[in-house]
Amino acid sequence: MKTVNLPQTIAIDGPAASGKSVLAERLAAALGYFYFDTGLMYRAVTNEALSRRIAIADEKAVTELAGTVEINVHPASDDARGVVSVDGRDVSAELHRPEVDRNVSVVSAYAGVRRALTDQQRRIARRGSIIMAGRDIGTIVVPDAGCKIFLTASVEARARRRMRDRLERGQHVTFEQMRDEILRRDELDSLRSVAPLRAAEDAIELDNSDLTIEETVQRALEIVGDRSRATA
Ligand code: C5P
Repeated sequence: MKTVNLPQTIAIDGPAASGKSVLAERLAAALGYFYFDTGLMYRAVTNEALSRRIAIADEKAVTELAGTVEINVHPASDDARGVVSVDGRDVSAELHRPEVDRNVSVVSAYAGVRRALTDQQRRIARRGSIIMAGRDIGTIVVPDAGCKIFLTASVEARARRRMRDRLERGQHVTFEQMRDEILRRDELDSLRSVAPLRAAEDAIELDNSDLTIEETVQRALEIVGDRSRATA
């Protein structure tokens, strides 16, 4: 694969726990790209609202917050997801706590919040050689991305993975709790009126319910390769 023909932006969208982060990290390492997980920005706003005791249902206050805080996502050598800071404070360790998981889809449905974060994401996308993971990258944030992958997996496979992640973090959860939480987030993310979760028309769908991580990466590399030749 000639580097010169690779797409400047690779968009990976898909529902909660479909494996976007792992795939994007591995692809970024394989291609020498920067990986940007846009979900971290929505999580950062949600986390900040919770920390400041702003009611999540208060759209005006949460939107104002999203427009005023400075969120930075820095690449870091020991953490491919990068370090996330809000007004200079490292919040990385707080962004995957259950309270953030439970509230983030409400925050991300606010049009003003999306406007503020989408602008920042587009600025970051301009650096090129970037893999962006999210829900609306191929449809809204970078609709002209050279390669778009829509990553899916069955609800059962996703609930199992999320449960494993949580147990590894020392959180005690059941399969049913994870399944219900994922279904709720899928519903909120897919049904919202602004930038709902959906595959772009030119995205390649990749269902990894029965694939290992290695097989998923291999398949994604083939998709990137095909797009590279298509644009060569
Ligand atoms: O990808 P992750 O699960 O960390 O994203 C957390 C939440 O952020 C999603 O459930 C969704 O509500 C929101 N999100 C979004 N648009 C993106 C990325 C994430 O609405 N581009």
